[in-house]
Amino acid sequence: MHDMMGTGGPHILAIANQKGGVGKTTTAINLAAALVELGARVLLVDLDPQGNASTGLGFSPTDRKKTTYDLLLDEVPLVEAAVTTEFSGLFLCPSSADLSSADIQLVSNEKRSFLLHDALREPRVETLDLDFILIDCPPSLSLLTVNAMVASHAVLVPLQAEFFALEGLSQLMLTIREVRRGANPGLRIEGVVLTMVDGRNRLSQQVEHDARSTLGDLVFKTMIPRNVRLSEAPSYAQPVLSYDSASKGSEAYRALAIEVLLRHPLRSRFSEETV
Ligand code: ADP
Ligand code: MG
Repeated sequence: MHDMMGTGGPHILAIANQKGGVGKTTTAINLAAALVELGARVLLVDLDPQGNASTGLGFSPTDRKKTTYDLLLDEVPLVEAAVTTEFSGLFLCPSSADLSSADIQLVSNEKRSFLLHDALREPRVETLDLDFILIDCPPSLSLLTVNAMVASHAVLVPLQAEFFALEGLSQLMLTIREVRRGANPGLRIEGVVLTMVDGRNRLSQQVEHDARSTLGDLVFKTMIPRNVRLSEAPSYAQPVLSYDSASKGSEAYRALAIEVLLRHPLRSRFSEETV
């Protein structure tokens, strides 16, 4: 049946928060790129009909042949939908606008929350030799986000350092709990990463304080600063790590990648050699 923990396959992370504009896509692209820089092979699955992750990596809607829509609704295998990017070691499964109708189309499908789960475990995915799969979720707690949570080992939550930041979290946690009760009992919370932090701003400091006192170790030590290079990079179709390698944004995502890697050492390349 459904092998939730996989058997030594890639570590699968859903990057989720039902609020829009909190840094999900920015985190998905740049955490993926930073993990690749550290030697990992990473697949980014764009599960947002808006397709910002796809565009941000240089795939405009007309460049996209097979998409996550085909993956979920037409049983196109991942090995056919995934494309290589200019960032060697980084693969992308692009999304398309028709993904926005997936919720409605899937209402009568019995396996509807397991579609992404099953697609990511299709046997030929092994040939990609992936260490990580990051799923960029849409800004909702829709069936698409539930698919991501059912498919994942853990959820990584970007939290924008702004007023009311923590309010939306309880709804997200409720959804995680529901998924645990049903389809994916092993689902963990990878961590919460504070984004668009302005260290000099009292509000940012307050949000950090509140997040750390409420969520404790779930909050990553690394915080992503507000950095204009991060917002410019997508229009150059690049992760910030290649657009401006020395920027504060690049440094922050490298630090976040190291925190993630410390929890999940690279299985295929380093771990076997160094143990
Ligand atoms: P989401 O995917 O959650 O909707 P995005 O990652 O698309 O959020 O970010 C929303 C907007 O904020 C985008 O224009 C993005 O470029 C910008 N942005 C994200 N993170 C930062 C940051 N740390 N500093 C500056 N701008 C950022
Ligand atoms: Mg997004």
